[in-house]
Amino acid sequence: MSLDLHAIYTDLHAHPELSWAEHRTGAVVVKHLGELGLEIVAGLAGTGVAGILRNGEGPTVLLRADMDGLPVEELTGLEYASRERGVDPDGIDVPVMHACGHDVHVTALLGAVERLVATRDEWSGTLVALFQPAEERDGGAQALVREGLYERIPKPDIVLGQHVTGLPAGTVSVHAGAAMAAVDTFHVTLHGRGGHGSRPEVTVDPVLLASHAVVRLQGLVAREIAPAETGVVTVGSIHAGTKSNIIPAEARLEISVRSFNDATRDVLVDGVARVLRAESLASNAPREPEIVHGESFPVTFNDPEATERLRGVFRGVLGENRVGDLGRLSGSEDVGVLAAAAGAPLVYWFLGGFAPEPWTGPIDVFDPDLPSNHSAYFAPVIEPTLSTGVSALVAAAREYLG
Ligand SMILES: [Zn+2]
Ligand SMILES: [Zn+2]
Repeated sequence: MSLDLHAIYTDLHAHPELSWAEHRTGAVVVKHLGELGLEIVAGLAGTGVAGILRNGEGPTVLLRADMDGLPVEELTGLEYASRERGVDPDGIDVPVMHACGHDVHVTALLGAVERLVATRDEWSGTLVALFQPAEERDGGAQALVREGLYERIPKPDIVLGQHVTGLPAGTVSVHAGAAMAAVDTFHVTLHGRGGHGSRPEVTVDPVLLASHAVVRLQGLVAREIAPAETGVVTVGSIHAGTKSNIIPAEARLEISVRSFNDATRDVLVDGVARVLRAESLASNAPREPEIVHGESFPVTFNDPEATERLRGVFRGVLGENRVGDLGRLSGSEDVGVLAAAAGAPLVYWFLGGFAPEPWTGPIDVFDPDLPSNHSAYFAPVIEPTLSTGVSALVAAAREYLG
């Protein structure tokens, strides 16, 4: 009996689920892991599932796939496009789509497990296949660790994973060191004093306060970190007021900060709070701002030695010219949390997912004409994406399992 990866993929793609709601996906995973004879640990941080194969003495290798979809209405026109809907944390009915390709990750990991089971006589050690909930919202990896993940599954000696993206199918790209940015999210309420729009002298205008804060925040990257460093401060949402002649009592901001090392992160995170407090003081606000530090992922740091080792492995399996280096990306991931909690090295690579035919340029530079992850048009080709994803996972695992 063998898994029909094509059927598994199209089924998962047609039935995506929002973060923390991956019940059907988790059940599909449990069913196939059961068929493959793995020891199963389910209910990890809700919907997470791990399959364990104890195969004698040797290292423990953790292969990770994330399972969640996104609140995006699919416009790919694929036969197996999603028509699913879900309810978001605000109680709003939203369309759901595998717009980040996590269905590729789940399917490829099932395929890799199947191949490692079939070749178990050739290797020795412990394989852990971890299917993680909620990569896209509120930190599924942190939740797993907080709930004592490594008391329920063996602690890994190395953590490996992949992400499909807009590069040529049949290739992988991997970057040693800081590969993806840290992200810190802030939910902010700036307090003023409301009143009539004609009498600003008896109010504290939070709209003006918020406007100064937004402009001043852009000085953090421009003036407080070195030119050779990089970071991002984005105020992605600003809300205040209802009407032209009413000065409101508060303004709300949503801020996202990205950085590639702890020193820059500290400067930006501390700076955001300082600017918000100082601008409130400058406006004579009646109260200090409320600043809630929300979602926070560390830098995704690929262990340099392990990364170069696997780069060689990938070249051997996929071909010399099918392994690229994307450099560091400003996107963020929580897979590093799983490695840090185990004190294990991480190697996380990008898997090409788009048809290679029109590719004339380098294999590790994004084609601006292709839909990016999170786009309503994100539609990886099934092959050779899946078989490359399976081969990369198996080869990387076998490098450690012998
Ligand atoms: Zn995503
Ligand atoms: Zn993703």
